[in-house]
Amino acid sequence: MPVAPLNLYDLTREQLRVQLVRWDFNSVHTARLWNYLYIKLAASLDAMPELPPKLRARLATDTHLGVFPTALETASSDGFTHKYLLALADAERIETVLMRYTGRVTACISSQVGCAMGCVFCATGQMGYTRHLTAGEIVAQAVHVARALRAPAPSSAPSRAPKKCHVIRDKPVAERLRNLVLMGMGEPLHNYDAVMHAVDILRDPNGLALGAERITVSTVGVVPGILRLAAEKRPVHLAVSLHAANQTERAALVPAAKKWPLDELMSACRTYSETTGRRIFYEWTLIEGKNDSPAHARTVGELLGNLPAQVNLIPLNPTNGYAGAPTATEAARVFQHILSSEFKIRSTVRQRRGIDIAAGCGQLAVAEAASR
Ligand code: SAH
Ligand code: SF4
Repeated sequence: MPVAPLNLYDLTREQLRVQLVRWDFNSVHTARLWNYLYIKLAASLDAMPELPPKLRARLATDTHLGVFPTALETASSDGFTHKYLLALADAERIETVLMRYTGRVTACISSQVGCAMGCVFCATGQMGYTRHLTAGEIVAQAVHVARALRAPAPSSAPSRAPKKCHVIRDKPVAERLRNLVLMGMGEPLHNYDAVMHAVDILRDPNGLALGAERITVSTVGVVPGILRLAAEKRPVHLAVSLHAANQTERAALVPAAKKWPLDELMSACRTYSETTGRRIFYEWTLIEGKNDSPAHARTVGELLGNLPAQVNLIPLNPTNGYAGAPTATEAARVFQHILSSEFKIRSTVRQRRGIDIAAGCGQLAVAEAASR
């Protein structure tokens, strides 16, 4: 059956109001419909009984909910990471991840099917680019995670309760989705308009009400996108995937660096921080023998020394298409120590907890496609 053209998650509350009026319905129904979508997290029109029958009939013929059946769901052995492979209306697949570490509930969502940037170690890059996601498809992923948080805990739920899952009168209090990172499949700044439209919808205080300070957009270094974020003073956080601190080494890992060279990228980052007053998170995938030596740490320190920066070190998740191995824990600690002691740069080493469910970007989609 063909899918109706309009995805309700594509619309801001005001756009939804205008749409209802265009269909000759009273705009008074906007609040109730919005409430069904983002507070009750209704998964179908059947779960919206209080809408007038005529409006439900119109919605049934002219809209869809961007709710995709889960093609595959996996949980890490510690139960803290859940990964969903979601099917889109055109049968394409994307990945969305729910993470519950140190009391924080975070959704990691995708911005594209595949990616055009071709980073050599990345499973999504190895797939190539298929298409941009619409704003509605981006919003629907966050709604999917919010719904999963509300569902009864599966048998694989964490054995230790996450810090914020407290209990009142013996009833567990539902966790709320608070943090969002655009670090799933795709390059968010290559799909700028849809991503920012989705962010606007997700921030609506009468809806999912995500705080802008809890939304992070990660980019491989799309310079025009960084400058536009700065000019528009978008209040989201920015993460820049660096991986190497000189142009030759970076271009070998990140082909997009040939289009946006390191000096242009760093100048855009400086403009961004000066204009917005914000610190940037720099991501560094640690690959054994490639970019993880003490000398490499010092190149990072020299590059970022005068900028408001925090470095996130991510040991490589091995993929089939790339022969590299992750940096050992001790070498990652030495790298981190050099950044802090010699350059006063804060850094974190991201835990590879999701490794047993192929949590690296794009890896679940590759595995599933191979088994089809
Ligand atoms: N396209 C954006 C956001 C998606 S990738 C970007 O590149 O920033 C999110 C992060 O995962 C990036 O820092 C990316 O370099 C990292 N990443 C991708 N594949 C990885 C892998 N196999 N192991 C470790 N980190 C990886
Ligand atoms: Fe694209 Fe990011 Fe993967 Fe690079 S790391 S290929 S930019 S998704």
